[in-house]
Amino acid sequence: MAAPTLTIDLAALVTNWRNLAAASAAETGAVVKADAYGLGMSKVAPVLAREGVRTFFVALAEEGTQLRRILGEGPEICVFNGHMDGDARPIAEAGLTPMVNSIDQMVRHVEALPGHPFGIQLDTGMNRLGMEPAEWQALREIAVSQGPRLIMSHLACADEPDHEMNAHQLAAFREMTDGIDAPRSFAATGGILLGPDYHFDVTRPGVGLYGGLPFVDAQPVVHLDVPVIQLRDVAPGETVGYGNTWTAERETKVATIAAGYADGIHRIMGPNAWVFAGETRCKVLGRVSMDLIGVDVTDAPEVPETVEVLGRHQSIDTLADAAGTIGYEILTALGDRYHRSYTCG
Ligand SMILES: *Cc1c(COP(=O)(O)O)cnc(C)c1O
Repeated sequence: MAAPTLTIDLAALVTNWRNLAAASAAETGAVVKADAYGLGMSKVAPVLAREGVRTFFVALAEEGTQLRRILGEGPEICVFNGHMDGDARPIAEAGLTPMVNSIDQMVRHVEALPGHPFGIQLDTGMNRLGMEPAEWQALREIAVSQGPRLIMSHLACADEPDHEMNAHQLAAFREMTDGIDAPRSFAATGGILLGPDYHFDVTRPGVGLYGGLPFVDAQPVVHLDVPVIQLRDVAPGETVGYGNTWTAERETKVATIAAGYADGIHRIMGPNAWVFAGETRCKVLGRVSMDLIGVDVTDAPEVPETVEVLGRHQSIDTLADAAGTIGYEILTALGDRYHRSYTCG
């Protein structure tokens, strides 16, 4: 294998969507922002649409425009960032549904595109996006009279089921929306797993589709195999990599592999990261370079041609732990130098 290869298992993606859909009586949408969490919206979205997804979510109108080109007419495309200055044209041309998140956005939307569909985003405590209770109170009657397509809010702590913030936000969402005749959306991946009280009418899973926590039962979607470029024997007392941060204590067989921090293997992971040569867990040695990483393959029974960085032996969340981050960031940092291969099972 010449190039580092990122294999994206679309069958696992579909299984994850089905399992999240089966966990809820609500319509199950799909979040494909940030190029489907780095995995390629043009490959991921059509597969989900074929599977029956009718409501897609992106962050930016620009992403919505791309998604419309990919999907054609039919599915609803909701834009979390709402209707920003300059968005009227993409929203109109691509038939997007902005999730209006302030009075200013509401005014902008109805002035620029009277009669064009919109949704509402409410803030129930996260203090990130959406109308706060007082603002909503002022706008509610007018907004509801125009038939919003969806009313949504987002949970701040859904990955911690016992966190009191979940019930607090749920009560706030109910208080702001009970009695309104419009579909509601509250749960992302974490919210789906909190149970039916959190599901409302449409769910918005993202990371769980792509194989990440908090969906513990997710199937891995991403496999990353990186070729070994060179092998050498390093004697005790010799060092590996920039800054001499690792010194051999034994005769060590060192494999230099063809990926680095420019490919999303964050430099900060170095001292804590592992890869796999077959079934053998191999430690990363010294600093991660931009394009290269040294790995201890002394204990591998065979000299590997490639090592597994992500896949059956190591999840995105395990690798994320080595960098003190989360699986989401591993996915969205995956570089564009990988050879990408999409499989359907
Ligand atoms: C990103 C995002 C989601 C998806 O969240 P996951 O945790 O990836 O399932 C849902 N809703 C909003 C508002 C988001 O920003």
